[in-house]
Amino acid sequence: MSQATRFIFVTTELSIDYRTCPLCEATCGLEVSHRNEEVVRIRGDRDDVFSHGFICPKGSTLGKLDKDPDRLRAPLIKRDGRHVAATWDEAFALIEEKLTPLIAEDGPNVVGVYLGNPNVHSMSGSLYGRAFLKMLRTRSIFSAATVDQMPKHLTSGYMFGHPDLIPVPDLDRTDYLLMLGANPHESNGSLATAPDWPGRMEAISARGGKVVVVDPRLTKSARAADEHVPIRPGTDPLFLFALANVMFGEGLISLGRLDDHVEGLDQVAAAVEAFTPESIEPATGVPAATTQRIARELAGADTAAIYGRIGTHTAEFGTLASWMTDVLNVITGNLDNPGGAMFPKAAHEQRRSRRRFETGRWTTRVNGRHEVRGELAVSELANEILEPGEGRIKAMVTIAGNPVLSTPDSDRLDEALRSLEFMVAVDIYLNETTRHADVILPGTTPLRRPHYDFAFYQLSVRNIANYSPALYELEDGSLDEWQVLLRLGATLTGQGSDPDVDTIDDAVFAMTVGSAVADASSPLHGRNPEEIFSATDGARGPDRMLDFLLRTGPYGEGYGADPDGMSLSKLREAPHGIDLGPLRPRFPDDLCTPSGKVELAREELLADVERLHALMARETNGQLTLIGRRDVRSNNSWMHNVDVLVKGRERCTLQINPEDADRIGLDPGGNAKVSSSAGTVVAPVEVTDEIMTGVVSLPHGWGHDMDGSQMSIAASRAGVNSNRLSTGAMDPLSGNAVLNGIPVEVVPA
Ligand code: SF4
Repeated sequence: MSQATRFIFVTTELSIDYRTCPLCEATCGLEVSHRNEEVVRIRGDRDDVFSHGFICPKGSTLGKLDKDPDRLRAPLIKRDGRHVAATWDEAFALIEEKLTPLIAEDGPNVVGVYLGNPNVHSMSGSLYGRAFLKMLRTRSIFSAATVDQMPKHLTSGYMFGHPDLIPVPDLDRTDYLLMLGANPHESNGSLATAPDWPGRMEAISARGGKVVVVDPRLTKSARAADEHVPIRPGTDPLFLFALANVMFGEGLISLGRLDDHVEGLDQVAAAVEAFTPESIEPATGVPAATTQRIARELAGADTAAIYGRIGTHTAEFGTLASWMTDVLNVITGNLDNPGGAMFPKAAHEQRRSRRRFETGRWTTRVNGRHEVRGELAVSELANEILEPGEGRIKAMVTIAGNPVLSTPDSDRLDEALRSLEFMVAVDIYLNETTRHADVILPGTTPLRRPHYDFAFYQLSVRNIANYSPALYELEDGSLDEWQVLLRLGATLTGQGSDPDVDTIDDAVFAMTVGSAVADASSPLHGRNPEEIFSATDGARGPDRMLDFLLRTGPYGEGYGADPDGMSLSKLREAPHGIDLGPLRPRFPDDLCTPSGKVELAREELLADVERLHALMARETNGQLTLIGRRDVRSNNSWMHNVDVLVKGRERCTLQINPEDADRIGLDPGGNAKVSSSAGTVVAPVEVTDEIMTGVVSLPHGWGHDMDGSQMSIAASRAGVNSNRLSTGAMDPLSGNAVLNGIPVEVVPA
């Protein structure tokens, strides 16, 4: 595949361009001043329709990421245990030679695929990751979703009929925000896209509302809230059940505008009956009077939103916590109601059919864990590779992921990846995971690709659309990530290692158009596919696909049906984005359940409540439990090679309460040895009364001291990998990893 030589026209003039930051879920607008492919300054775009100038420290580092000398710019092949530069043709030829016989012999499931979090922050990853999986047809699919968010997909599937119909707190209009296990002052928000969460939270209090944060730590968000309720790790579902218990017991239930569109209320009332505020107090540490008061406040508020995130989902009862969060939104009359928990309508959203949401269409080989949303639990990945027997995963493809640092029981996964017969990685770094790859195909950096947030405009607290063209062309000899993914898919499916990628892309697009014109619910039903094909903006690749999705979306121009409607060219004319307005009620019309109602009480959820009773009676016996934490300068594992984000005080510390530190004999600044049933790490001690007694905290994404990786700045501030302590335990319904509430022993090191 040949690449045209690229010229950079040298100029002394400063250019200013606007783009959406793709690094986290907040989707901030950036103003990028640059000259000759050098970023001079990045600051918040004050005219951005959503972020209005807000930016965090990560957003200003996109230029550093692009210039990082450690970033991969050419494929690498492992020879004699060392990675050496190779051409694209050499890399794909080796992949073809090693992987196609394996697939021919054992079938596609022999190849496991891990999709890391950055995939949902890129158009190529969002659109062509899916195309790659369809081509490969493997069922051995794993992703970051079972690290931290599968409970929410699962309960949305059960209650609303589609796993991506996720309610978000209507931050800008709510009177009362109850937030559990979330720290948006550091994370910038998750499964609820809102630039400047801190400002939006402050505005709730300023307009006379109230923000309550439930968390084992006095986080930055908890400090900024009107009230902080400390709670023992992993016990959030007990607290949520008890809130519902009070509401049912005191006759505080009001379904509001959804009154005729909810079923299963009686079953929920029965399910929460045993969880009184008094009965959950010993396990949660939350006084019964506090639970009762908060239940009454929620029920009495004009509008309220209950929002739970990482801390509630990465726990043993993640699905029950997610379920009861949305049950509370329903029974307080706040679901799908302005000021409550609402459903965004993205410009690219396509119509969804009504059908019963099911899981378990296939299972893991070793422990029979069921798939959810087409994915297997990543906590089972090491078993699926290491345990002998028919159907074993013998090869892996990782795309923009570093599961050795970011998924549970890291030491075992590290061992598993080392044992593979072949591994391919698509990544911008030679990191702790990709060092195991036989071939690494370099990804595309954010400034060199167009951007539109497919994932996060579906989770946004306002309806927004914003498109950023690539700021710079690809570097000489580079392939765009979508080209890499299509070529990889073609190579693995016997189409040769140097296929015509444009032809494959045309075929992928033709299939998308074909299924739309054949779908009776599509605005294109019955139209001539050729006419659609030739009318679509953008030569090919993600831009063409985006244009199609915008034109056929809910605000779309429908290929001539509404000339003022949405299209890619319309977005191109709006560099600061288009505000499509506040969230609007969508139910019952857009409910996807077979009943056409909110189904509160799926039998799978009710059956799991039995397990929760045991949690009430569980004794801690004075054992410390480990929780994670976020830092605004960190982005899981992959921004640690940017110097300005890791310099300064040590952030990978073990936080411990003074009382526990005294008892154990730990000194601030000393080291602690932390052990779980999975492993041991040694971390610097940070004594702080911001964490409750009985709980210790380590951030995740660190541990950059492994041989064979090539991230020099990260290695100089390596930190320790908290996932060496996570055990592989999971929430059985969703398969989500248990990363919070891990029993640990802590001693001076
Ligand atoms: S908050 Fe997120 S989107 Fe905004 S600048 Fe920071 S990393 Fe980028």
